[in-house]
Amino acid sequence: MIALLYLADPFQKARHAMVREQIQARGVKDQRVLDALRRTPRHEFVPSELQAHSYDDRPLPIGYGQTISQPYIVGYMTELLDVKPDHRVLEIGTGSGYQAAVLSSLVKHVYSMEIVPELARSSQTTLQRLGCKNVTVRHGDGYQGWQEEAPFDRIILTAAPAEIPNPLVDQLKPGGKLLAPVGERYQELVLVEKLADGSIRRRPSIPVMFVPMVHGTKR
Ligand code: SAH
Repeated sequence: MIALLYLADPFQKARHAMVREQIQARGVKDQRVLDALRRTPRHEFVPSELQAHSYDDRPLPIGYGQTISQPYIVGYMTELLDVKPDHRVLEIGTGSGYQAAVLSSLVKHVYSMEIVPELARSSQTTLQRLGCKNVTVRHGDGYQGWQEEAPFDRIILTAAPAEIPNPLVDQLKPGGKLLAPVGERYQELVLVEKLADGSIRRRPSIPVMFVPMVHGTKR
């Protein structure tokens, strides 16, 4: 039985070690988040020639000048986003689809936008193949958000704008939270909370390095 499980997922041991040594060891405690990371096959989201490095402690290239984030950053951001099972979440920057997949096992629905058409297509294919039915990927420019599906309980950006785009704050429910890497050369994670009265509280977190959020739909 153990041998069969091992054959079914040869990366399971590496994935559990990743969660223990890179993510728990650095202070992520939320059991639901740790379980989601243990469940999500990160190696399915990286190019085949890099699969052996899927569980390394670093970001990896996914083509088109883009990257899949370092596992710890995905864990840290997912914990900070503080999601609940009934949440509808907007992600800007689908990339490989990995962050969307991690979130999908924790919330009701993930709406994810990606500006590079090839990545929007390939992430959708991967998510479908893995049975993530509650993720909708759309090719488009995240600066405008996703008006038709707004408002959202949570919004997460995985590309860095110079400033948090106003349409995204507008598309957040009262009581909602938005998490984004913000800045140009120097970036930090910023958590924005929209209070029940609609006022905004902004809390800076750790320094990070994300690809910049670009303007305008390509092609
Ligand atoms: N969350 C991803 C990592 C994202 S890398 C993962 O888990 O793999 C950042 C992604 O943001 C890139 O794929 C990039 O093409 C995309 N991006 C950059 N600017 C954007 C914009 N304005 N709208 C939507 N996506 C954007």
